[in-house]
Amino acid sequence: MSFARPGGALLAALLAAAPAMAQAPHQHGHGTVNIAIERDRVVIELHAPGADIVGFERAPQNDTEKQALARAIEALQRPLTLVDLPAAARCAVDEAVVAAEGMNDGAPEGAHAEFEAAWMLRCADTGALRTFDFAPLFARFARVEEFDVTVVTARGPSTYEVDRDHPTVDRGGTFWRWMTGR
Ligand SMILES: [Zn+2]
Repeated sequence: MSFARPGGALLAALLAAAPAMAQAPHQHGHGTVNIAIERDRVVIELHAPGADIVGFERAPQNDTEKQALARAIEALQRPLTLVDLPAAARCAVDEAVVAAEGMNDGAPEGAHAEFEAAWMLRCADTGALRTFDFAPLFARFARVEEFDVTVVTARGPSTYEVDRDHPTVDRGGTFWRWMTGR
């Protein structure tokens, strides 16, 4: 699915320039995150296999699975409890949209299914966004192993990989170089 993107034209262009999001069949354990930063706005798009988030990839078949699905969606609607951002950035959630693709009744059997989330944030100081720490997300979803992360700004994309041992995207000095033009 494609999300409505209420951000500016540049944000939309930035996201469009990011590598194609994971298309089914995905690899279990592996998810994709695209982050676009423009002025005071940050858009984070996350794709993760259903197997990683709830342990199944079809419509829930009993109350336990229905609850697991509902709880996962609820968790994915609260991005700041899943990704730690530097406090100095002072980010707040504008909107969080979550879809469980292929997990509705009538979804084809035997197909992959995945969660997609779009998180629209507004930050008082995006210059302070030197790190994105996914440790809480790994803690919340025990089957997630790894994310390929792309951070896109007007200067282009940078790619990272986070896993349980290294859960933090550290944008380090390069961000400051472009912020300061040095
Ligand atoms: Zn799958």
